[in-house]
Amino acid sequence: MSFSFCVLGSGSKGNSTLLVLEEAGAEHYLLIDCGLSPRATARRLAPLGVSLDQISDIILTHLDWDHFYSGWVKQIEKLGITVHVHRRHRSAALRQDLDGRHMDLFDDAFSLFNSVSVQPFLFAHDELGTAGFIIEHSNRRLGYATDLGRVPQLMLDNFVNLHAVALESNYDPAMQLGSSRPPFLKRRIMGGLGHLSNEESFEAVQHIAGQSDLAHIVPLHLSRQCNDPRLVKGLYADRMPDLLGRLTMSNQNISTPLLQVQSDAGLVQVERLRPGQQAAMF
Ligand SMILES: [Zn+2]
Repeated sequence: MSFSFCVLGSGSKGNSTLLVLEEAGAEHYLLIDCGLSPRATARRLAPLGVSLDQISDIILTHLDWDHFYSGWVKQIEKLGITVHVHRRHRSAALRQDLDGRHMDLFDDAFSLFNSVSVQPFLFAHDELGTAGFIIEHSNRRLGYATDLGRVPQLMLDNFVNLHAVALESNYDPAMQLGSSRPPFLKRRIMGGLGHLSNEESFEAVQHIAGQSDLAHIVPLHLSRQCNDPRLVKGLYADRMPDLLGRLTMSNQNISTPLLQVQSDAGLVQVERLRPGQQAAMF
């Protein structure tokens, strides 16, 4: 009953994360967002031994083009993929030509297969908001949220007892303010309906870590223009050095390793017993 995930790519040019859920000897493959082209997705799935036709479901955070690439519409129909869309995003999905027959609308918790539960949360982002999730399988919990304007109490109250968290860490405020971007765009990003800064993301993770047993922390959606992974790592190194070893940076162009959603104690044990195992897996 294992549960793992791999951020195939994350950033303003496309976001997609693979979930691998094993139950009763069979593996299920899902995507959270499909913002990379099907071809790029297939290329990044290949080293994991997964092909596009094995994807059964896609769960969407929202319908911005960097989370839903229009080229997927045909693939979804061809492969019979079910796309889970927040009820608030239904019209946006129909506008993108997503066929209603392939859509499963949610506004509350839903289950997949026999033993996977998905608890959605709607967070502030532009007009329609964005959906974040806690995905639970065999008592292992992944928290996932990207493109949110601020960290609401709703998240802090619910993102507890997690074993992994993937959370947007979009920009460094000084780099944002100093960039050549037009003022309206800076206001949109920083104004509470756009994206999370490194500091906001870090503080949320710090809070979550205090109430969880995190094996993995993955900052998502780093801005290429207004962020630098070294700044994010620096925050953890300075203020939560004991969590630095759990940090895996996502990247626009390179997938993360396949990360096991498991208790931190389990991770340490596996590494100690079989130090070569992780390297061999990837
Ligand atoms: Zn985005």
